[in-house]
Amino acid sequence: MPQTVESRPQTCGFCDGRGVTWKKDRAASDQDESRACPACFGRGCVLVRQPAQVCPDCNGWGRIGRGLDTTGGEFQPCEECGGMGWQDAMPLV
Ligand SMILES: [Zn+2]
Ligand SMILES: [Zn+2]
Repeated sequence: MPQTVESRPQTCGFCDGRGVTWKKDRAASDQDESRACPACFGRGCVLVRQPAQVCPDCNGWGRIGRGLDTTGGEFQPCEECGGMGWQDAMPLV
């Protein structure tokens, strides 16, 4: 008998559960520019179908260009998972 598909909240990959994101990753002085995370809409977590699997495109980071884009500009959300970092995820809204 197949089990019911279950979804549970998981930490958002794009903001690592903070619910906000910054234009610059390292900018303590740029906190005024913080804004709600575009992947989870500021909730810090997303609903993921169980068993939860990280997105293979971004390895759960929810962003591409990691390590390349820390000096300026914004991280681009992973297109595959919409920045959430998980497969079969949807925002908690
Ligand atoms: Zn988020
Ligand atoms: Zn992804």
